[in-house]
Amino acid sequence: MNFDPLNQFQEDVTNVLVRHKSLLDVITKFQESCSRVNRAVVKSASNCGCIEIIGKHQKVPSDATYEEINQFLSNNIVGELCDVCRDKVEQEIGNCLFYLAAVSSTLNIELSDIMEKQWKNIKTLGKFSLY
Ligand SMILES: [Zn+2]
Repeated sequence: MNFDPLNQFQEDVTNVLVRHKSLLDVITKFQESCSRVNRAVVKSASNCGCIEIIGKHQKVPSDATYEEINQFLSNNIVGELCDVCRDKVEQEIGNCLFYLAAVSSTLNIELSDIMEKQWKNIKTLGKFSLY
């Protein structure tokens, strides 16, 4: 028996998947849950106003090194999530994780294997692991 928290989480998700056992149902619920994460973030700006999302072109000098680029780029967020919005975003991310585990289980893929492979990629390739 594996006591890795991610494996345990995936196993528990699998055990409660009664109504959403079909791959078709699970993948569409996964997509819906990911969309709800984005909606919760946008609502934090548009309804609550605790954050502002500033979408504008970010200028980076053409001669900036990769290490210097970070100082010229912003995350496009002004402010911080209030407690209510943070709770909502966390709830939606949790639902998204649930259905990610469900998709993985339905396809007999272990999330911990994926995470380990991805982590190794990041360690090996660093900034070149992004695409
Ligand atoms: Zn808020």
